[in-house]
Amino acid sequence: MVLYDGAGGAGADWAAQLTAQQAANLASHFGPWTVKPVADYEAGEARQHSALLYFGSSRDSRIPASFLDDVLTSRVPVLWADENLDQLAEHTPWLWRSRYAFRATDPGVSGVNRVDYRGTTLTRETPPGDRGIRTVRVDDPGKAKVLAQAQRPDGSRTPWAVRAANLWYVGESPFDYTSATDRYLAFSDLLGDVLAPAAPVTPAMEERQALVRLEDIGPNADPDQLRDIGTCLHQAGVPFSFGVLPIYIDPHGKANQGEPTSFTLKDRPEVVEALRFLIDHGGTMIMHGVTHQLGALKNPYHGISGEDFEFFLAHQDSRKFVIPDGLVPGTSRQWALDRIDRGLAEFGAAGLPRPQIWEFPHYAAGPLDYEAVGQRFAYRYDNTMNYASSVQGGFPDGNKRADQFYPYGVRDIYGSAVIPESLGNVESTGHNARPPRGPEDIIDAARRTLVVRDGVASFFYHPPLGVDRLHEIVRGIRDLGYEFVRPWDVMR
Ligand SMILES: [Zn+2]
Repeated sequence: MVLYDGAGGAGADWAAQLTAQQAANLASHFGPWTVKPVADYEAGEARQHSALLYFGSSRDSRIPASFLDDVLTSRVPVLWADENLDQLAEHTPWLWRSRYAFRATDPGVSGVNRVDYRGTTLTRETPPGDRGIRTVRVDDPGKAKVLAQAQRPDGSRTPWAVRAANLWYVGESPFDYTSATDRYLAFSDLLGDVLAPAAPVTPAMEERQALVRLEDIGPNADPDQLRDIGTCLHQAGVPFSFGVLPIYIDPHGKANQGEPTSFTLKDRPEVVEALRFLIDHGGTMIMHGVTHQLGALKNPYHGISGEDFEFFLAHQDSRKFVIPDGLVPGTSRQWALDRIDRGLAEFGAAGLPRPQIWEFPHYAAGPLDYEAVGQRFAYRYDNTMNYASSVQGGFPDGNKRADQFYPYGVRDIYGSAVIPESLGNVESTGHNARPPRGPEDIIDAARRTLVVRDGVASFFYHPPLGVDRLHEIVRGIRDLGYEFVRPWDVMR
């Protein structure tokens, strides 16, 4: 059971709800969940759940005594994050001192850019407006055990996560400003302590799983390039997946000498042959959008398939940064279903098998698009855009959202089983304010992902980059002890 500050319904604190929703998505890896405001907690509910997760976002929040009583007196594991631990400590001071013996105080510590957890150093971004983390003081190390240490650039440290009796405490919400090497990985692993205490903390190395997905393959792909990559992975004994968009559109002719151009898989038999070659050499074909662009829009580039957004709006600002704008007006679940069905028909028309896994272009979509995909596919293979409206109802606001990746398989708020992708890709040029990323960056993120029990090293790769860097990444990830598997193998 996941609990958050504030009320439910339309008057809700949407940021607090999004935090709870992201926690629930992660928790789904371990089992089913429920979410509600802590104000609605009823005495004794703790005993009906295997664990409680509480996220304190507001210091004004008055936590019900029934909840404080149950946390302090039951044996149910509780993970408490961020604010309001003082309300728990002051509820029954003698009990707190005898059983827990630590404090989280305000003001917090700002500038923490590193968290050390189980021998692994994780990063933490410190953007403007970072609320910092709560300062934790351990009064009795025999009762309160430090699980992770936060560190500032000057070397000063404070506990980031503590465990005492049935309580785990994390000194912040770990969902803000996450990255592939982030302390979010520590939180993802800690959930295993709370939600699956019987599972081994350190799985055998042969159980470490890795995924590689080839990206953005359209009817305009170079068939020789696809065969080269497929041959390379097959000879290395690496199963892989590849994301295909069945319809190519260049509405302004930007890539076709000014001539508006459109064709589909069945118009390019040599590409279809190459896709069959990939399937025959260990490749799992997945569906990566329908056109991977949207009408005649520059969304945000030139409207060309494989580059633009399809189920979300975005533009480029004067610095050429990509700015997400929100949902596509006038669309509906039926609009998305019709679009998906048109794409599925093209696979059939080309004589290819129906893909069983869907990946949204740029991992971007609205709640109704997620629902439509859930009606056609048992699996997605991407990240989730969480919307506050998914919890509180009403029309989704594209700006009240939180984008989330997973280091392991989950069933997210939209009900889809989501195959994880967390390491990203090689980027020869930087994107927005981010620097270019090379094979070493992806391997480094895979190394830090080892800190997550059940952590999957999952990355994607664009075939036009050639085989050398792909080889380098595959070798690097294997050297860490991971074994490459098929996408569904990571889902329990
Ligand atoms: Zn794509």
